[in-house]
Amino acid sequence: MASLNNPLQPYKFMKAQVFRGVNQLSYEEVPVPDLKADEVLVQVKVVGLCQSDIKKIRYPLYEPPRIFGHETAGTIAAIGAEVEHWQVGQRVVVLHHIPCMHCGYCLNDNFSMCEVYRKITTTAGFAPSGGGFAEFVKVPGHIVRQGGLITIPDSITFEQASFVEPTNCCLKAVKKAQVTAGETVLITGAGPIGLMFVMLVKHFGARAIATDLLPSRLEKALQVGAEAAFDPRDPNLVAQIHDLTGGMGVDTTLLAVPSEKAFFQALDCTRRGGKILFFAEFPDEVEIPLNPNVLYRREIDLMGSYSSSYRVQALAADLVFNRRIDVDALVSDRYPLKDLALAVERAVSPTPDTFKILIYPTS
Ligand SMILES: [Zn+2]
Ligand SMILES: [Zn+2]
Repeated sequence: MASLNNPLQPYKFMKAQVFRGVNQLSYEEVPVPDLKADEVLVQVKVVGLCQSDIKKIRYPLYEPPRIFGHETAGTIAAIGAEVEHWQVGQRVVVLHHIPCMHCGYCLNDNFSMCEVYRKITTTAGFAPSGGGFAEFVKVPGHIVRQGGLITIPDSITFEQASFVEPTNCCLKAVKKAQVTAGETVLITGAGPIGLMFVMLVKHFGARAIATDLLPSRLEKALQVGAEAAFDPRDPNLVAQIHDLTGGMGVDTTLLAVPSEKAFFQALDCTRRGGKILFFAEFPDEVEIPLNPNVLYRREIDLMGSYSSSYRVQALAADLVFNRRIDVDALVSDRYPLKDLALAVERAVSPTPDTFKILIYPTS
């Protein structure tokens, strides 16, 4: 730690949840990452459990060992000697990847396709993988310099701040689908992501209709602003949606569950000339047979939205920090870091009351 300008930095070892193989999370003591002169160490206060974390833990997608977790809010614990504008003690949101801003993708606003962006560099040790599931996470220089640390206003809790990253991802999708006031949007799946879509769609003045298999989630969707909510197994679903939309169907469907059935239902519920946006990641082996004339004759636009966008970062922070969406309404469970495996179990087999799960690395 020779490069630290805080010689009293007392942290040498920390607790972390290390991914040691599929479904093998190990709560271990690991070294606190060494800081280079342009790096920042953040003490993690709250980290959201994301669907993508769950996938990385439950499927053989990445070589172990790794420390995942990326919806991170915390306090700056140490800074390298050359770090400017940041101080120990500041409360920050950590973005786990930042685009290069000058490649062909970045110049076309496709930030999430940028090679630099796609390479996650925040780390709590091992191959950089987010690092939020640890007491401390190291933020590399390029992220520090390019807007990847965001100051949390005093009026906002770490819990609320941990929603900036998922809000950005959902906001990017809503923007990509060009949801505008007066439109009607179908949201398939009313888990934490679907509910955030409901809030955002409503924020932009559009009408939200949600579907989910769980009655409690339908109720929650109505609470957070959906105009109607249906069980997708309801045989009258398509007719009811047409009733709600003057016989046309919805303008846009946001697919927040990786379900082939949900996609075909979306085709039945979306109006001619409408859009269907894939937000949920499907298992790789899934193929969806599609008659191309659906796209041609009905002029349905199919689109996808992966991860977040630099372009909507300021708006995402504004939505959370100025409480334009009520992220508190999404929080259902809080687990200490040592119980991350239990938290994953809970997310995979939700109770009627399970929505967003937050993890607390430091007690
Ligand atoms: Zn996430
Ligand atoms: Zn780039």
